[in-house]
Amino acid sequence: MKCDRCNQEIEPGEEREHLGQNLCEDCCIEILSPMKTCDPWAVHSAKNYEKHAGKNSALTPLQSEILKLLEENGSMEPKQLLTKVGQNLQLKDLEREFATLRHMEKVRGEKREGKAFWRLW
Ligand SMILES: [Zn+2]
Repeated sequence: MKCDRCNQEIEPGEEREHLGQNLCEDCCIEILSPMKTCDPWAVHSAKNYEKHAGKNSALTPLQSEILKLLEENGSMEPKQLLTKVGQNLQLKDLEREFATLRHMEKVRGEKREGKAFWRLW
């Protein structure tokens, strides 16, 4: 049997039914993922567009700034980055932007000597 969404062969017994479609596990997870259920196609096309356009067109100014600072300075602790961004930003706001960027696979966190650092993907 083939997945109705990505057309990959599904092992017998591995198929998942979702709204009348037979899906492979990956597609099912993707469809059910809470980050995407709000508007899966918008996310999908934004990601594709970005891939083709080859630039950060889908980013907010703050997200672009975060990427720029990480590019210029290398990996940083969240608090360091917060200082550089300025703009009276709260750490929790910065963390929310970071989570969005991580979801786009642009940045990631890493632990060094027991401290959390943020870096480009
Ligand atoms: Zn699939």
